Amino acid sequence: MNQPKIKFTLLGTGTSSGVPTISCKCDTCVSNDIRDKRLRCSVMIETDTTRVIIDSSADFRQQMLKYNVDKLDAVVYTHHHFDHISGFDDIRAFNFTSKKQMPIYLNSKTLESIKSIFSYAFGKAEQIGGGIPKIDVNIIEEDNFIIGDIEFEIIKLMHGNLPVLGFRIGNFAYCTDTNYISEESLSKLKGLDYLILDSLRFTPHPTHFTIEESIDIAKRIGAKQTYFTHIAHNIKHSVVDPTLPKNINLAFDGLEIM
Ligand SMILES: [Zn+2]
Ligand SMILES: [Zn+2]
Ligand SMILES: [Zn+2]
Repeated sequence: MNQPKIKFTLLGTGTSSGVPTISCKCDTCVSNDIRDKRLRCSVMIETDTTRVIIDSSADFRQQMLKYNVDKLDAVVYTHHHFDHISGFDDIRAFNFTSKKQMPIYLNSKTLESIKSIFSYAFGKAEQIGGGIPKIDVNIIEEDNFIIGDIEFEIIKLMHGNLPVLGFRIGNFAYCTDTNYISEESLSKLKGLDYLILDSLRFTPHPTHFTIEESIDIAKRIGAKQTYFTHIAHNIKHSVVDPTLPKNINLAFDGLEIM
């Protein structure tokens, strides 16, 4: 399948707590630089006919309003951590306007967690007052899948001991929430124009790459341009971005890639 012209918009590039972090007065959290204002991680993928987002983040509602998203064709999930799924309930707003179920694409582990956290949306609602998200579940584990005119290739990643999904769409790849990428997955990331890669902070973390580790992996993958995402408040954009190697930069909310 030939990929159509696709636009990618990074709706959120922050770690799980978001930046600024509640009650923190560090240099980044008090910064006026808009690149230091990071909502929770999500990316919007658009063609002329199809619009998909990866992860309904904790800031999903705000992201949909900020980017004037009046129509959404599907939500694809990387994994079940709360910063990536907690906007799930607000999917119902799209049910109201589209009069259709929202297709969601996720692996069985992520579905299991969403079902237990949002059990009311899966046949256990006590009372349907303001409505519940109505969804059409599509299980993805390892095979490529197509939404509208966009083809997704699954890139398996490890996030501590949790297997999570990365995605390649044409020459763009989105690999958040990871601290290990197997040789097999690395081989699927050859010839990229753009790579979005997890990079939390400088100090080690059990489930995320550090800046140094991300630089190593980015160099191995060799995309024409790499952007780091899932960035913690320890990283001030104007201080760290200029120190990164050529063709590697920190992403920021609202960054558009075409
Ligand atoms: Zn996360
Ligand atoms: Zn802070
Ligand atoms: Zn995670």
